[in-house]
Amino acid sequence: MKELAILSPGKDLPYTRRELLKWMKSKLKEYNIRLRKKLSQIMLVDPKILTFIAKKSYELISGKESPIVIEIGAGIGNLTQFLGHENIDALIIAIEIDHRFTPILQEVKKTFNNIEIIIGDALSLLTSMRGIDLVTGNIPYHITSHLLLALAQSSIPLALLTLQKDVAERIISKPGTKNYGKLSILMQMLFDVEVLRVIPSSLFIPSPQVSSAIIILRRKNPYNQYVRIAEELTKCLFSYKRKLVYKAFAYCIDRKLNDKVKVEGDLWRKRVSHLTIEDIVKLADIYVELKKRN
Ligand code: SAH
Repeated sequence: MKELAILSPGKDLPYTRRELLKWMKSKLKEYNIRLRKKLSQIMLVDPKILTFIAKKSYELISGKESPIVIEIGAGIGNLTQFLGHENIDALIIAIEIDHRFTPILQEVKKTFNNIEIIIGDALSLLTSMRGIDLVTGNIPYHITSHLLLALAQSSIPLALLTLQKDVAERIISKPGTKNYGKLSILMQMLFDVEVLRVIPSSLFIPSPQVSSAIIILRRKNPYNQYVRIAEELTKCLFSYKRKLVYKAFAYCIDRKLNDKVKVEGDLWRKRVSHLTIEDIVKLADIYVELKKRN
């Protein structure tokens, strides 16, 4: 009988890289698919890393009853299969925008009974989905920032993502360093961030130009009105990154509030680039108070 997918529920790990590569190439050929750069179609063909991600996702959702896992950018369903294989009790909802992969993903779905496929845009779907326990995937790199923003603004509690290493570095950057900015602040305000490992580009087909990293985002705060204000303020303040805080703050708030600000204490004499998350929260507090009183 023709094997539908490279993995099947009963089959033992590990799988060889060659086997996976052969399966992938045969499927692309069968359905006459050429991978599209424009959609960041780079496939991770390393069974060890795929297993690592799948096992990690299992660990992250263990203890949850009937957990729901979303995979962003399923592509040919390589990670999807590993996720299905390792998370028998979970429902894996694999989202892919490119309908050319539909028949391959349907084959994968047929092999497992815990996989659902949605052909659509993960960006818009993420904001409308409820009850999700974990979002995972080797995400499409051309929309990484948008996806991170959508995740931040959602109520999703956990994410296990493969993304560009330099973006991972930006997310975890500390005050005063080169990469520190609005992305680091927003993500650190909302999540505990852990970088699990770096993946060389040679493990993808075709090889991207940059290295990748696997990260975990564990939500510690909800995205609410208050965070939104802090986010807006950060965005404005960091457009004056090298300025002193009292100056930048004055540029960022309504002009009529300027006279009301008491610029006493060390915070105001810092450079914007050195503001910690706590400082930003403090400034957002001051801003909200000023607005309320006036
Ligand atoms: N899951 C595979 C492929 C990752 S490549 C693997 O792990 O190797 C990223 C995938 O995201 C591609 O298949 C691409 O078509 C898909 N993609 C790109 N933009 C998307 C979007 N807006 N929503 C959902 N999927 C998208």
